[in-house]
Amino acid sequence: MRYEGDIYRPPGEWKSYLLQCTVGCSNNTCTFCDMYKAKRYHVRPLEDVLEDIQMATGTFWREAETVFLCDGDAIDLPVDYLLAVLAALYKSFPRLRRVTTYAGPLSTLRKSPEELRTIRAAGLQRAYLGVETGDDALLRHVKKGVGAEGMLEAGRRLVEAGFDLWTIVITGLEGGDREALERNAALTAKMINDMGPKHLSSMTYMPVEGTPMYEEVRRGEMTLQTPFESLLEVRRLVEQIELSGLHYTSNHASNYLPIKGTLKEDRARILAQLDQVLAAHDTSLLRDDAMRGL
Ligand code: SF4
Repeated sequence: MRYEGDIYRPPGEWKSYLLQCTVGCSNNTCTFCDMYKAKRYHVRPLEDVLEDIQMATGTFWREAETVFLCDGDAIDLPVDYLLAVLAALYKSFPRLRRVTTYAGPLSTLRKSPEELRTIRAAGLQRAYLGVETGDDALLRHVKKGVGAEGMLEAGRRLVEAGFDLWTIVITGLEGGDREALERNAALTAKMINDMGPKHLSSMTYMPVEGTPMYEEVRRGEMTLQTPFESLLEVRRLVEQIELSGLHYTSNHASNYLPIKGTLKEDRARILAQLDQVLAAHDTSLLRDDAMRGL
């Protein structure tokens, strides 16, 4: 397989054939993220991508049931390009059930609702949207490229186009301040309630060396949450989700406690699990810092 630079995928895509269509992220400004900072964003030539698909059919990947389009933001690709890739994938991989991608909010908003419906109908089923937070000021502070209104609109357009929307939020982006924790949890829960995704993952903020936010922490302009403040924010988030049938997980390596369930059906069980750990205040119950990572 031919890849340019480091490749990232959501944890749940570990079985997927990874097909690199774009290199880097079309936004690439978020102050907490270093995933694609070493890459200059560009779209790979379509003929190269089609050739990769052909090459994959000569390997065990021909049996792949899921494909993830890399890099950071394949929804940014022109519609004709996406249609050609999707047609080639479904023709070449007989067992293929699902094609997925990350979706940046700005690149999603650059697509019309009709264009989103067209690529959804062609077989791009799932979009992973990094919502991060529902707090407008914080979204702007971390340079996500949109504020809360733009983020909500991007997510709603994906839902309305029929995408299986997987949202990702990051607790602790606001730093170690109790008032900010309550506000962030409330605004993020509201954003998710208003957007109506099928899935929600929460990650825990960790400073990544070389990023502007790491420098904020180093200069003392931002403090970090303690592990128990981090869990309290997860608790506040979970208790304010009002959707039914929302698949929730915190199995990402950045988190102190892996949690999985359906909201709000499993809310009482999840809150009891969190309350037990919060009450014990025992760090041995948490994932060790050495085992955490982004
Ligand atoms: S949009 Fe996503 S991949 Fe791009 S810089 Fe922001 S967090 Fe990183």
